[in-house]
Amino acid sequence: MLKKICSWIIGVILTVLVLLIGIFAFWYFGSTNYHLTGVPVLNYHQVNNKFNTVLTMKPANFDEQMKYLHDNDYHSITLEQFDAYMRGEGDLPDRPVLITFDDGYVDNYENAYPILKKYHMRGTIFLIINLMNTPGYLTWDQVKEMSADGMEFGSHTISHKPLTSFDRAGVRHELQDSKDIIEKMTGKPCHFIAFPEGKYNDMVMEETRGAGYRYAFTVETGRDFPWDDPYDLDRVPMFEGPISFKHFRFRLTFSAFSALLWKTHKYFEHIEMTKDLAQHIPQP
Ligand SMILES: [Zn+2]
Repeated sequence: MLKKICSWIIGVILTVLVLLIGIFAFWYFGSTNYHLTGVPVLNYHQVNNKFNTVLTMKPANFDEQMKYLHDNDYHSITLEQFDAYMRGEGDLPDRPVLITFDDGYVDNYENAYPILKKYHMRGTIFLIINLMNTPGYLTWDQVKEMSADGMEFGSHTISHKPLTSFDRAGVRHELQDSKDIIEKMTGKPCHFIAFPEGKYNDMVMEETRGAGYRYAFTVETGRDFPWDDPYDLDRVPMFEGPISFKHFRFRLTFSAFSALLWKTHKYFEHIEMTKDLAQHIPQP
């Protein structure tokens, strides 16, 4: 009899515990309080109707997403606000997002920029110096025009080759010269870089700091917190396959959760014993 009561009580306690963990997880991962779940840095590439690659988002879809941010009281923040947040100073507006574009495609000027303006948002574009003023990419005049109007710019290096493929002198050239050129052309400091293909190593990080950058973004999934390594910052990918509105909302709202799955997947993949298990963990 006593045994029965005991197991009954343990059963009830376990059920309540699982329920509480579920409620907590739902509350935490669904939270839009940046103190709890960090700042999402959205990562786009192309915005056009011309191509149909993993990097391309249709302007109509981009418009729908920016409208959602606008209508749901999200606020696109500036690099300066992001910097202050990372240093633990200053409060951000409610539901902050940092909107970034990699590679410097001309459609960022033609399509994304007018849509951002329409919804009172701003964005940061990471430029590849060697591709500037070439077909399909931004011109310096377009950069200057957008820069005067609140858009911001960071480095995506000179050549866009992974920084891990260079020796130290090569890395230094890619980092320092791209920074200098962007600062000269915009007349504003360039403290942010997005590593090509998200690739880096210890030497690259050392040189990035040495060149005077304050922050570096990768293409790993996640949100950013003040205690994160400033040279290994995650973003929320809005590329990699066709991004539907559902994907967008899931990644925006539950990026803390999708990042957890994604990181667990990566971690398991690294270890011989858990390699097979990694296949079963989705990367949403
Ligand atoms: Zn790129």
